[in-house]
Formats: sequence, structure tokens, C-alpha cells
Amino acid sequence: MEKRYIYADHAATTAVSDAVLQEMLPYFQQHFGNPSSIYEKGRENERAIIDARARVAKCLGADPKEIFFTAGGSESDNWAIKGVADKLAAKGKKHIITSVFEHHAVLHTCEFLEKHGFEVTYLPVSPQGLIDPKQVEDAIREDTALVTIMYANNEIGTIQPIAEIGAVCKKHGVIFHTDAVQAVGNVEIDVKAQNIDMLSLSGHKFHAPKGIGALYIRKGITLPNLIHGGGQESGKRAGTENVPGIIGLAKAIEDATANIPAKIAHLTPLRDKLIEGILKIDQTRLNGDREHRLCGNVNISIVGIEGESLLLMLDYFGIQASSGSACTSGSLDPSHVLLSLGLVHEVAHGSLRLSFGEELTEEDVDYILETIPQVVERLRAMSPMWERMQKENIRLNADKTRLVKEEA
Ligand SMILES: *Cc1c(COP(=O)(O)O)cnc(C)c1O
Repeated sequence: MEKRYIYADHAATTAVSDAVLQEMLPYFQQHFGNPSSIYEKGRENERAIIDARARVAKCLGADPKEIFFTAGGSESDNWAIKGVADKLAAKGKKHIITSVFEHHAVLHTCEFLEKHGFEVTYLPVSPQGLIDPKQVEDAIREDTALVTIMYANNEIGTIQPIAEIGAVCKKHGVIFHTDAVQAVGNVEIDVKAQNIDMLSLSGHKFHAPKGIGALYIRKGITLPNLIHGGGQESGKRAGTENVPGIIGLAKAIEDATANIPAKIAHLTPLRDKLIEGILKIDQTRLNGDREHRLCGNVNISIVGIEGESLLLMLDYFGIQASSGSACTSGSLDPSHVLLSLGLVHEVAHGSLRLSFGEELTEEDVDYILETIPQVVERLRAMSPMWERMQKENIRLNADKTRLVKEEA
């Protein structure tokens, strides 16, 4: 088969789309004014931001006053969590509930707060990578300030029962934040219907530029200022606005949410064909629930090889993928997400994440399915671990989380 170039790492970042770029371009030179200026060149940009805020709000079922522009997902997560913690600590509420497999922007923020007198409950996830709303309810205490649970996991793509978790939080009067960075454009989001109090999103995961994002904060929740200075973002986050980024974010979220059912209908069969095809390779396991997962996410552990070698070989064949998460590669520890599913290190090490956008074709899928088995065969042929497994009859156990010696 002829070599193809396939970008299979949409969970890491995406290209700015043509439509987004075209909307942004005038704001670099022609419309360069400062939105706070009094003359027309400034006010036209102020109006553009007001319009963009309304466009983003509409895509989430929110009110424009509830949308705050930030520099991305990490900033939104930090602001939401530290902001609520700061606010409610004054009322004696110093307990936070989250999960073990959140993005590091959430986990490291919670760890920071633990050093400052907060208590954090890290809910375990099921072997399929799901959280039960009942777990959340059981963990809520008199002094719980915040529940923060991600909408969709960035490594294994599992989608949480967000509306149900939101309902539990509402019932107990606890603020509910969700990191929806991976969910936007893949799942229908309505913050009101889904009982979401705060929601983080990041533009570069859905074809806006890097460095622009937003935090939805429900009316009635007042967070402390993130950046002190001028009156931008209702005085909450000072600094002259990233006007091109904000315009780009508005266009990108409109495009990403315009036809989610069609995207799901297109990608789901391709995803499933990939999953079934790769699982035909001996000694492999699917990570994350089969049904409750993003339409563009495939995550499979391939025993007996190293994820990094697999990525290098796939890159050689034109396929750009990921193993674990981009933030953890560079360290030798397997991803905390895969470990949270109960996998031992040997199984987690050979993991492969493919994440797609709607441009994926049947021909791409066929190319990937032709390439991966060849690459795995070559890597296993030079793997001491695979050799030992063959010699000593070591195989995956029944639930495919660890390796066991099979009696002949
Ligand atoms: C990418 C990502 C983030 C971080 O977003 P940035 O805009 O890169 O800071 C946070 N959470 C999740 C789930 C992500 O996938």
C-alpha cells in the first residue's frame, strides 16, 4: 500500500482550520485596536468580543455573562479549582472531590491545595474507566466545597455521566466543575440541562489556536480575580484581550458543535473497525469502555513492546500517534490513567493512543490496520520481554490487566 500521512493525535492538538484562520486574520492588522480604547478602532473590537462571547455561550447553552476568556484549558482548570477553594475555605469548606485519572492541570492543582490545608478525595475509576454518580454522592461531606470530574478522558476517551454527577452535586448544594476540554465538539453540551456550574474548554483541541480557552462560571458563583489589573473579563482576568484568539475560538466552537451527530455517525464505525482490527493482534487489550467513549479515540495496550518504539516506527510510516499522554512522555513512568484502570507497568508500557478528527477516511483506517501488525511483529521480534513470554508461556490474564504464567 502506498505511504499515507495520517495525523492521529487530535487529543494532543489540532490545526487551525481555514475558516477559523480567515475570521482571525483581520484582527492582526486591520482591526488591531485596543478593545478598551474610546475611539472607533477600539470599540469595533470591543463589539467583536461581545459578539464572540455570545457565540461561545450559545454553543454551551450558557449566558454570555457566564463566559470568561482564558489562555486555555490549564488556566481555566486552575482558576475554577483554586477560585472555589479560596472562596469556600472562608466558610469552613475545605474538602474537594475529584478522580484519580484527571488531567494534570486538575490533579496538580488539587495536590497544591492539599499542601495548603485542603483535603482532597481522589475517586477511583472502574476497570472500564468510568465514575459512578453514586461514588460522588457517597464522598460528599458537610465541608465539601467542590466536585471536579472531567467530561471525557484525554487518554482513554471515556465519557462520564456528567448530567447525573451534576444532579448529585446540585442536590447536596456542592459546586460542580468539569474539565470538558476533550468533550467539546464530540459530545452535546448544555450546561443548564446537565447541571454544570463551571466548565473548562481549550481552543486548540478543536481547530482554534493554542493559548485561547474559556471558563464558564454559572451566574451566582463569584470567583476571586485571576489576574489583577484592568477591567477586562468583568474585572476578573485583567490584561488586554487576545482579540484574534477570541474571534478564532468563537468560530471554532460554532463549527465544532454545528453537527456533532454527523461526526459521531462518521467516526464511530471507523473507530470500531480500528479497535477490532488491532485487537486481532495476539496479547492486546482495549483501554477504556467500549460504548461510553469518544468517537475518535482508540487506546490499546500491545504487550511485549515499548510504546515509544512503536510511535517512532509508526512515524516512519507516516502515522502520528501518542502513547500515554504528551505531558507524561519524556518520563519512563506509565501514564497514571492506564495505571488507574488496574494495569501493571508491563501492560501499560506498550500502549497506543490514536485520536481522530472528522477528516479520517476508510482508506486511512485500512492503511493503519495494514501497518500496525507489521510494526508490532518487527518490534516483538527484537523484544527480550516478548521472547521471555514465549519461552515461559507468559500471557495476559483473564481481565488482561497483568501477565501470568500459563500451565501447559
Ligand atoms: C489538553 C487538555 C488540557 C490542557 O489544555 P491547554 O489548553 O493545553 O492548557 C486540560 N485538560 C484536558 C482533558 C486536556 O485534554
